[in-house]
Amino acid sequence: MSAIDIDWDRDGRQAGYLHLPNSTNVSAWQDLRVPVYLFRNGEGPCTLLLGGNHGDEYEGITGLSALAHSLDPAGITGSVIIVPALNLPAVLAGARLSPVDGRNLNREFPGDPRGSLTQRLAALVVSELVPRADAVYDIHSGGRSLLFAPCTLVHEQADGELTRRCLAAADSFGAPFTVVIREPHAGQMLDDVVERSGRLMVSSELGGSAAISPGTMGLTRDGLLRLLAHLGHLSAADLPPAAPGRRLVVPGPQAYLHADDLGTYEPMVEIGRSVAEGTVIGRLHFVDRADRAPQPLRAPLGGILLCVHGQGLVRRDDVIAVIAVPYGE
Ligand code: CA
Repeated sequence: MSAIDIDWDRDGRQAGYLHLPNSTNVSAWQDLRVPVYLFRNGEGPCTLLLGGNHGDEYEGITGLSALAHSLDPAGITGSVIIVPALNLPAVLAGARLSPVDGRNLNREFPGDPRGSLTQRLAALVVSELVPRADAVYDIHSGGRSLLFAPCTLVHEQADGELTRRCLAAADSFGAPFTVVIREPHAGQMLDDVVERSGRLMVSSELGGSAAISPGTMGLTRDGLLRLLAHLGHLSAADLPPAAPGRRLVVPGPQAYLHADDLGTYEPMVEIGRSVAEGTVIGRLHFVDRADRAPQPLRAPLGGILLCVHGQGLVRRDDVIAVIAVPYGE
């Protein structure tokens, strides 16, 4: 059995599986099957759309599952590969990390073909999917612990022209914000593999709190069509219009507010709003301490409140907020 039962040269719609052998206490010769779809209509650009890299980020998982059952292969140019639930064990567990080996798929790239299930999954993406694509869109949201103002994400590249193309593709999705970011763990992410190969890479943070809303779902549905048009797969006619977004940058560690104590988080500013440096964006409540008053939480920078903690309970060292500032203005 080949690792992916898709005929990459055949036109039309195919629904198959990415196969990963696995051996567990309850299933010695398991064949883990991760759904993969190919839409192909002749020669042309190839785009890889991924959801469920983290298993509790639902806009990509649900939006790509919907697209895989609605896209008309005769209406596109080139090839679109869709994997709605990439880290399937994590998705089925409603968890960020894989319950099989406890690993975080997006900290395992470029993967290891002889490693654990998650490491082998990363290696399969790198060897079998990324080389077929001209562009990769890995759809993330905040998961249970973070909640983002809907945004697409790009990294600045050494090649300024590639950065410009990535920004234009990210803008085309039509989220309220396009954000330039460099995560501390960027070298372990899928993005790094794709970017170093010179391919177009776009990611996103479309919501969070391990939930989904009509607003973020609608943005995902329409944004995917707009991105596919931008990348040359769909005609631009009849596309859902997008409001102009803003380009922001997360300037560095100073943009992050972390918790010093465990408490419940009282949000006081909506995500996506402007704040001045020092603005009280919320309070932390020490519900186990009769002697301790609530602690005001202040914006570490002036800018846009891009992200807040996604759950009511905050633990020491958690991210409480992330501020982004205008990019290239
Ligand atoms: Ca994520």
